[in-house]
Parts: sequence; structure tokens; C-alpha cells
Amino acid sequence: PARTRFAPSPTGYLHLGSLRTALFNYLLAKRTGGQFLLRIEDTDQKRTVPDAEERLFRDLRWAGLQWDEGPEVGGPYGPYKQSQRSALYREHAQRLLDTGDAYRCFCSTDRLNQLAEHRHKLGVATDYDRTCAGIDKGESDDRAARGEAHTVRLKVPDVYPAYHDLIYGPFKPLKRRSHLTESSFEDPILLKSDGLPTYHLANVVDDHLMQITHVIRGSEWMPSTPKHIALYSAFGWTPPHFAHVGLLVDEQGNKLSKRNFDTDIAAFQEMDIFPETLTNFAALLGWSHSEKSDVLDLRRLVDTFSLKFTKGNTTVTFGKLHFLQRKHAALRAVAGGDPLQHIVRAVSALLTAPDTPYPDWQTLLPTSRDSNSDPDAYITSIVRADAENYTNANEFVYRNSFLFTALRNPASVTDAPDVPARVKSLADVGESEWDKERLMAKVHEVIDARAEGRKGAKDVYQYLRRAVTGKEDGMRIYDVLVLLGRDECLRRLGVEV
Ligand code: GLU
Repeated sequence: PARTRFAPSPTGYLHLGSLRTALFNYLLAKRTGGQFLLRIEDTDQKRTVPDAEERLFRDLRWAGLQWDEGPEVGGPYGPYKQSQRSALYREHAQRLLDTGDAYRCFCSTDRLNQLAEHRHKLGVATDYDRTCAGIDKGESDDRAARGEAHTVRLKVPDVYPAYHDLIYGPFKPLKRRSHLTESSFEDPILLKSDGLPTYHLANVVDDHLMQITHVIRGSEWMPSTPKHIALYSAFGWTPPHFAHVGLLVDEQGNKLSKRNFDTDIAAFQEMDIFPETLTNFAALLGWSHSEKSDVLDLRRLVDTFSLKFTKGNTTVTFGKLHFLQRKHAALRAVAGGDPLQHIVRAVSALLTAPDTPYPDWQTLLPTSRDSNSDPDAYITSIVRADAENYTNANEFVYRNSFLFTALRNPASVTDAPDVPARVKSLADVGESEWDKERLMAKVHEVIDARAEGRKGAKDVYQYLRRAVTGKEDGMRIYDVLVLLGRDECLRRLGVEV
């Protein structure tokens, strides 16, 4: 069983990219019968957004990614918020000072800036020059005890240990090159001068203490991984398995940003995208499966999950999102219950809003038929009939507006002048017989009675649809006829009732 974690910094809200990272970790944990942890990495307090944490919790839960351990639910390795674990990180930094794997750096910001500037002019990476690595341990302890400001740096090894990325494969041992002449790896700061940890230290200590077995994260963290591996090795710990997933980019190859939709999850919620649509969509970004269909709800994703990721960046286009939404709407219609009711409520809220464009929609309720006289039942039948075309309440109501508003001039153009009179024979079908089978039989009768026979079927259907819906296409015509009921249909066909 895998223990995985999602470790967001509360510097922003959940967005498509981070939702995907959380999802992959969730799926791996659930697939293997393990645990999914949530950890708040708030080491950079200056950049913390006040309500980010609360929103992260809410959005993760909305998406169905409930964590097994973490804030609000607790767990054996808490607290799960790094700002509450400072003492622990200081202890661990001390351990590395004691073994000589870390050293105190007393260099002033000014000196470090000068160093960076100088190296920048030389065109080499802005590495720290290790001046303080040579300070004798006793002297370092004394200066610290006297309260001299300092950071703690990891003394990275001359050769970085090899490691294996589950997506990118083996990384050979890396030589730390001469730090004066070539680019090399900076001795990363572990503790800042205020005694608080950096991302590197807190992340590694926590992943170890929380017994994380697999880390799935964005490839923007790949440059940090050798440093993390070096840290694990300095502590004498076995590192977790790493899998770095590619970035999400738009069609021009730009990293997704607010402008091109990598905006926070609330935007999808406002569009009325279902959680299962969004998790399905996110899962397909850079991950492949061997199912016949791409339509996979969270349960199915758990059942089929494996670490089959594609290398490199993933281009995001949104056509698929709407395709998946329609598919999941259809699944909701079949499932019934609350998932279906959610759609019905959204449609109903729109119709009954004070500024509804369909103020007279209730006059269309076929009140004569008891089972359908209730507004919710009417909406439910409509949703059931056309769920495969549902994207959101607004579009759905617009698409099916003829079911929510009296058509003013339903009489319709046709190239077949005999058709309107013939179609009036639908009146032969009585109120109690007004169902799909009988209506179909009647329409076929009309078709067969014409000289064109079956070849003229199109004329009949086209006229019928135009007259009854005022549109050229839309949901299946027999569903329309049944939903509208006998009286309303005949009225639209110009029959006196
Ligand atoms: N706190 C980091 C972030 O915001 C975590 C990166 C990682 O998963 O190691 O993404």
C-alpha cells in the first residue's frame, strides 16, 4: 500500500494543475489500499493567502478527494501544517550540524548579493562559494550562541546519489563540479536566519516522518530532487519513490495561467462542471489507461489507476471537458438519486429566478397528467430525455427552450405543402394513448400515406420538429411530443383543442 500526500503551499487556490497532482496521489493511494495525506506547506508565511487553506479543503472535498490524514481529520503523524512543526525542523537541522553534513553560514545578505553579481558577470551559476563551510565547529557554535545571525546550509556531497524517477527513469550519480568555475549545485539553505525551515528541509523531514512512500509532483520540482536525495542520504534515510509529471501548457505551448484557464477550481464550479467531470478531465492530462472509454468517474479511475504517465508537457484543450460533462450528465440521469437531483435543482433555480427569461414556463406543465403535473417531475423527465446534451443549466434550458415557453408562431415553413394537414392526424391519438410507440406508429402512417413514402420521411419529421419546437434540431422528437403532452402539441400543430 502506498502512502502519498498532496502538499500545497497556501499561496493560492486549487487550480487545474494542482488538482491533477492531488488526484494522481489520491488515486495511487486508493488503488493500492494505502493512505492519502494532506499537508499544508506554509513555510513562506509572507506569501500566504488568508483564505487559501479553507478554500483548498473545500475544493478538494468538492472534487471527492478526501484525505485520510491531515488538517481537520488528524492522524498519527500530525500536526499536518508545517508552521506548527518548527521545533522538529530545528532539531533535524541540528542533527546534520552535529554530523558535519550541514554548516552555519554567517554571510550577510550584502555579501551574498555581491557574490551573485560577480558570478553573474562571469556568466556562471550563482552558487554560494562555501566560505563558511570552513569555519571550525567550535567557533561556529560560539558565534551562534552569541546570537550572530546565520542560516544553516546542507553541505552537498561531491557526488549526488543516483536515483530512479518512476516516469523519467534512472538518474546517474551526479558529480558536483568545481563551484568556482562551472555551474554546480548550491549548498541549499535548510534553516533561514529566522530559524524557520526552507521548503527543502521541511518537505524531506515531513515525507520521511509521515512515512510517505511515493511522491507524485509537477516536473517544476525536478531540479530540487537531487538536493532532496542528498538530504535523505545525509540523514541516513531511504527516500520515497518519485514521479514527476509534466506541466500543463496551452496550444501555444505556454504554461497554463489565469488567462488561459489554469484558474482556480471555482471557475469550473461556476460553469456548473460536475466534480466527476473535472477529475475525469484532469486524470486524462498526461496519464493513459487501457479502458475502452475515456469516461471514468472517480471510482473507475481508482480501479484502473497505474503509473502510466507520459513524459513531457501536456497540452490542454477544453473540448474534451464539455464532451465529458455530457457523458457524466447522461450517467447521472441513469443513476438517478442525488446526482440527478443536482441537475434538476440547477435547472429549476434558473427557471424560477426573479429574472428568468421563461416566466410562463409553468403554464406548460401537462397538468392533466397527474404524474407530470409537479414542476420537478416535469424538469426531471426533460433532463432524463436529453441528459446526453447537458453541459450546464443555462445552455440546457436555452437548448430546450420550447419546453419552457409558449411558442408564439409555431406554424412552420415546409417544402411539402401537404404535410401540415396530414400531421394534424396526430389528433387521432387520444390523451391516454399519448406515448412514444403509438405516436411513432401514427407518424409512420402519415409517412406511408404520402406518395413519396419512406423517401419523404424527412419532410414529415422536419415539419413536425419545426412546428413543435421552432428549431431545426434538438432532442429526439418522440421525447418532445411526450414531454409537451397532447394538448400543447396539437396546439402547435394548429389543431383546435
Ligand atoms: N509545497 C510544494 C508545492 O507547493 C510541494 C512540492 C512537492 O510536492 O514536493 O507544490
